[in-house]
Amino acid sequence: MNFAFMLPVMMLTFGCTFLVVSRFGSREAGLWAAGFLSAAVAFSVPMFFAWLPIPVQALSADALFLSAFFFYSGALLSRFRQPSRMVLRLGVCVVAYAALAYSVLVLESLPAELLISDIACSTLLVFAIGSSLGSARRTIDRILLGVASLIVVEAIVRNVILLVIFSPGGDLESFGTSTYAFVMQAGASVIALLFALSALAATTLDTVERYRDAAESDSLTGLLNRRGFEETTSRLRARGALKGAILLCDIDHFKRINDTFGHAAGDSVIAGLAELLKARLPDGAFAARFGGEEFVAFLPGAALADGGKVANAIRLAFSAAGQPDIAGVGKITASFGVACVASSDVSLTETIGRADAALYAAKDAGRNRVMLEGTPAQEAPAIHVAY
Ligand code: GH3
Ligand code: MG
Ligand code: MG
Repeated sequence: MNFAFMLPVMMLTFGCTFLVVSRFGSREAGLWAAGFLSAAVAFSVPMFFAWLPIPVQALSADALFLSAFFFYSGALLSRFRQPSRMVLRLGVCVVAYAALAYSVLVLESLPAELLISDIACSTLLVFAIGSSLGSARRTIDRILLGVASLIVVEAIVRNVILLVIFSPGGDLESFGTSTYAFVMQAGASVIALLFALSALAATTLDTVERYRDAAESDSLTGLLNRRGFEETTSRLRARGALKGAILLCDIDHFKRINDTFGHAAGDSVIAGLAELLKARLPDGAFAARFGGEEFVAFLPGAALADGGKVANAIRLAFSAAGQPDIAGVGKITASFGVACVASSDVSLTETIGRADAALYAAKDAGRNRVMLEGTPAQEAPAIHVAY
């Protein structure tokens, strides 16, 4: 079986696929596309450009392989957010190409050419792998770097074997048809396939995650949106870890702020409260924008009183935030309702319902206060600070 035809087709397919992925805004995918397309053309040089003089073929293929590995290393560095070290990598390519030209045109030595090409391509990869190792935390990232390392190992093994074959007394003729040559070619093709597949899996997973995050977050505040909150809490429920306090919060008389100062000012008040939530919620807690100027937060493991304290600290910080230019509508404040997940709660909706009732009690009792579930507003607001 001849692999000569398979490799360019495979590389072309991956190159085009990466081009499509890059259109979803992935710069890394663009670099992978450039790498695999360069490799596709490099592999097809002997097929489609056989009419060119051999040195021209050799130097074209060499340039294209160097370019492919230049882009692979760039893609890895970009993926793991490492400096691109453009000058250094281009320098490796320029020096290697000068040496390749010398080996092809002056030495006319195929072994020297293959060796220099492998050393240069491996150097580019090793540099990128070495820079990225510390940042590869996810399984797919480790697989990708593992397969990239395999490419380097394969190049070393192949060159050691070739050096023996090409050495004086080596049997070059029978090597071409040997099982060794077949295994080497097959091995290199499989590694190339694994490399392309793991790079593709890594970049498409990124794209899917980016869209999922966008679908689950609120663009104005950067907090989760309602869907994100529901997804996150249902993951906690699946792990049996949905115990804690729910905190609901609604900005007081928000319509007046909008009416007096416009929608943009209203937006910045919403964003301001979101920043306070991010800064003041305890570790492990998360918040979402539930609607216009309404927020929800989940405090894992928190008791009702803890939730009340956190809510009150946020309430005080929000009303103290000043906003002097909005003084015309009075101090900007928010009301809070807090409830705890009870063992009888079938879903979080029930807890949220009780927090909502508490929030409404807080509004009824005059706003700018925290009300805990089960506390009648008129009688004994648990945490109540008057204007
Ligand atoms: P209350 O104290 O009872 O909560 O009074 P309120 O005026 O805040 O009442 P309500 O919650 O009914 O009003 C919410 C207003 O928030 C209505 C809507 O025009 C406004 N709003 C909703 N989403 C946005 C948004 O994204 N930006 C801005 N600026 N305003 C929004
Ligand atoms: Mg409101
Ligand atoms: Mg509201």
